[in-house]
Amino acid sequence: MRPKRIIEIIKDGQTNTIVTVKGWVRTRRDSKQVSFVALNDGSAVGNLQIVVDNDKVDEALMKRITTGACLSVSGLLVASQGKGQSVEVQAQNIEILGDADATYPLQKKGHTWEFLREVAHLRPRATTFGAVFRIRNQMAYAVHKFFHDKGFVYFHTPLITSSDCEGAGQMFQVTTLDLNNLPRTDEGKIDYSQDFFGSPTSLTVSGQLEGELAATALGAIYTFGPTFRAENSNTPRHLAEFWMIEPEMAFYDIVDNMDLAEEFIKFCVQWALDNCLEDLEFLNKMIDKELIERLKFVTSHDFVRLPYTEGIKILEDAVAKGHKFEFPVFWGADLASEHERYLVEEHFKKPVILTDYPKEIKAFYMKQNEDGKTVRAMDVLFPRIGEIIGGSERESDYNKLLARIEELNIPMKDMWWYLDTRKYGTCPHSGFGLGFERLILFVTGMANIRDVIPFPRTPGHAEF
Ligand code: ATP
Ligand code: MN
Repeated sequence: MRPKRIIEIIKDGQTNTIVTVKGWVRTRRDSKQVSFVALNDGSAVGNLQIVVDNDKVDEALMKRITTGACLSVSGLLVASQGKGQSVEVQAQNIEILGDADATYPLQKKGHTWEFLREVAHLRPRATTFGAVFRIRNQMAYAVHKFFHDKGFVYFHTPLITSSDCEGAGQMFQVTTLDLNNLPRTDEGKIDYSQDFFGSPTSLTVSGQLEGELAATALGAIYTFGPTFRAENSNTPRHLAEFWMIEPEMAFYDIVDNMDLAEEFIKFCVQWALDNCLEDLEFLNKMIDKELIERLKFVTSHDFVRLPYTEGIKILEDAVAKGHKFEFPVFWGADLASEHERYLVEEHFKKPVILTDYPKEIKAFYMKQNEDGKTVRAMDVLFPRIGEIIGGSERESDYNKLLARIEELNIPMKDMWWYLDTRKYGTCPHSGFGLGFERLILFVTGMANIRDVIPFPRTPGHAEF
């Protein structure tokens, strides 16, 4: 018979019936007569308490009920006298499905995050990570639900690419050439014509350019997939492999784009509040006492919308008044996380959408403003995170786009197919990219992006 999961047993609450539960031992507490075993099967943050009468269970078996062991327990479901749970199981039959000896790494509570990353193969069994990964799952569903309900088409863009036109960072090269014996051309260069794809290829840093092709065909699309950046930045907000959601919409201008981004984030955060409350309450208690309050705040307040130039003025005022930033503030500077967070956390105390950045610090495809200096970029800045979304209205004018590509010396051989969108029935369009893990960071209150993806890839780390 298919066993019920613990969450169902607790929800059904059918006391005085015999139930069978399977799960892993979280803790065991012994008194003279009985032992209390907290069993968890990953279905919910809460454990099911199993009460074992020491006289009824053989001593050898009793010894094998240790933290980490996997059990199948049958017994009577009864209302619990103890606090902390509504029901418990009076064990009648216990089967050890899998022993766990004393080397089980998650013995006691209070391990450091660093230690838990070293046992990433087991950390989903730690209560916090169970909560984080259940929330992550709900957020992925929320993303699809939001766009599906709006009629957006989920569009799959390639992970292997031969263009580096986005220039969004260092790329991971993909090759089947023998690195110890590279084929050379007559000029002594690597002969990529002999490589798998016949040209140099890499893992994608963004699906946007292909997303634009799709938007100018299907109208409104989104991508949701893995993205790779070989930037050697060891920050709590960067991964070498992360998941990105990139909607791209024909006929949206930058204001429509901002409206969509704000609605999208609010929808996802509200989804978490509506569907993950138990896990959020656990995280609120254990990780961050202001978490739920912060989530509710975001869903119920308008984001500030502000041009970059005014953002810089606010930051310069702060410097004049004695605020110290590590990186310099001046018009034209790319904002560092400390600047973004100052605007969000100290100045406005709200999420901020910063627009109209200098063209020099933004990508070539962004729509150029009349001033000749700025582009219609929009970054959504969040408390604790800094940039959570980066987006823009795209340049739809063929000649302006071509001029920018030439100005930046972007190789034309990479760009012809992208330029075709502007050649054949070009249209105003916009889009953005949301880093999925940054959203999970915000929603869970976790501090490090390595702790919101099951198996983080960062410089020097690709184990598991
Ligand atoms: P940042 O300035 O924070 O490095 P970016 O400007 O390089 O980000 P974009 O190219 O605009 O990032 O990518 C869109 C979104 O993807 C970002 O707003 C962010 O949420 C997310 N993102 C970018 N780089 C990473 C990364 N290395 N790890 C996780 N998420 C990332
Ligand atoms: Mn960005």
